[in-house]
Amino acid sequence: MSHKINLENLPNHYVNGEWVSPISNNQFNVQNPATETTIGNIFLGNSKDVDRAVQAAKDAFSAFSIYSKQERLSLLKSLKKVTENRFDELAYAMTLEMGAPITMSKEAQADAAIGHLDGFINALEKHQEHKKLENGDEIVFEPIGVCGLITPWNWPINQIALKVIPSLATGCTCILKPSEHTPVSAMIYAEIIHEAGYPKGVFNLVHGDGPEVGSALSCHQDIQMMSFTGSTRAGRNVTCDSAETVKRVTLELGGKSPNIVFSDCDLLTRVTESVDECMFNTGQSCDAPTRMLVERNCYEKAVEIAKQASEKVLVDNPLNEGAHIGPLFDKIQFDRVQKMIEIGINEGATLLTGGLGKPDNMNEGWFVKPTVFSDVSNDMQIAQQEIFGPVLVMIPFDSEEDAIKIANDSPYGLAAYIQTDDEQKSRRVASRLRAGAVHINGGAYNYGSPFGGYKQSGNGREGGEMGLEDYLEIKTIHIN
Ligand code: NAD
Repeated sequence: MSHKINLENLPNHYVNGEWVSPISNNQFNVQNPATETTIGNIFLGNSKDVDRAVQAAKDAFSAFSIYSKQERLSLLKSLKKVTENRFDELAYAMTLEMGAPITMSKEAQADAAIGHLDGFINALEKHQEHKKLENGDEIVFEPIGVCGLITPWNWPINQIALKVIPSLATGCTCILKPSEHTPVSAMIYAEIIHEAGYPKGVFNLVHGDGPEVGSALSCHQDIQMMSFTGSTRAGRNVTCDSAETVKRVTLELGGKSPNIVFSDCDLLTRVTESVDECMFNTGQSCDAPTRMLVERNCYEKAVEIAKQASEKVLVDNPLNEGAHIGPLFDKIQFDRVQKMIEIGINEGATLLTGGLGKPDNMNEGWFVKPTVFSDVSNDMQIAQQEIFGPVLVMIPFDSEEDAIKIANDSPYGLAAYIQTDDEQKSRRVASRLRAGAVHINGGAYNYGSPFGGYKQSGNGREGGEMGLEDYLEIKTIHIN
């Protein structure tokens, strides 16, 4: 496979249909987490770079906002063809810039670009942009305007697809600020949009950090909507910055998702798969099942199964094909995970497997050991804080009511998981969990379904029909 990625040859920002040099000259070093070596440098923008991109998006809005649904659908179909052609490059870029193992990078990370696109094409085909009410009035759904889109590094293209595609689908124009740590896949995506034939100014990309470019977008008076995915901390900043201009703000934030394991499930299968899911993407998924709550009468057995399952999770070079996990994405993340493991030990939890330090023979790269703690109580920091690494905590519970109480005792509410062979019980418990998604017995997310959180995990939903709604204004027509 040939790789066209060469950061040094590209002017980094994409504005008004072309690659342009940034106004700022603030260089940023992009690293490969598996080797701790430099991939290349990008230029982080400043508020003037934001102003230039917003002007381009504003100018493009008047024409693009009145494109017919058929015209927008045909552009999305063209986007799909080009995405398929550049699929391997997207996957390889994410392997380099954030350490996703190449097989997983293709099957999950890059796959999201196509999966979400199919979901949105389907949704747009069905979406009625004009409705007549029973009282005689009419409702028209219109694009909200210029959108500011801010994305994280952990699922780079997944998050970009969930924001950029509905913006394009509804006739909005946008400025994307990808994570400064994963700019390469974002730049390939910009090339894909260009090749798909979108008019200039409809999509713009400005690199930058949160405090400068992220904040300049959130504060900008010509942006009507901010869609943000990242930490709860930064989500609060986006909300505060957006308040002055009364923008619509949608937030997809952190999680500490509970996984309730009842003794009537197929314990070996359900616990083993749950451990694998927790460790997937090296534990760097917002909706990972990181808090396993186990019914006390099968707790000891579940602990033993989890230990064995975790010890079978392979850690390896992300460039190798296979079902292993890769490194954490940078030193800050590595230090944070080490610190949380230390906190867990000091809090008195039992370290079942894994622990501090790098796996044997892996001195280079931000690799960590898959780690499981048992004898955890829900008030410990390791049960309350998002660790964002391959670290599972196991908490016993005594009754269904107790499990629901512990599960909901978290500032987050992104996802929840239930393992039981009793269907009625699974429905009953699901209805009481304060979470945006409930996965029963390994039920997976399907493209086109809404994704988002309760409580401090955010607001708004991404994906499919509901993912279009955040990008639409509603106009009511009263006719005499
Ligand atoms: P982060 O909050 O540090 O950064 C996310 C993005 O926000 C980056 O582009 C960053 O530059 C920008 N940013 C940072 N400070 C900002 C500010 N003050 N104003 C505007 N933008 C700002 O998060 P991260 O470390 O990149 O990603 C990990 C976090 O994202 C985790 O908490 C994870 O749970 C969350 N996440 C949530 C979802 C979801 O759908 N709920 C999906 C993926 C990741």
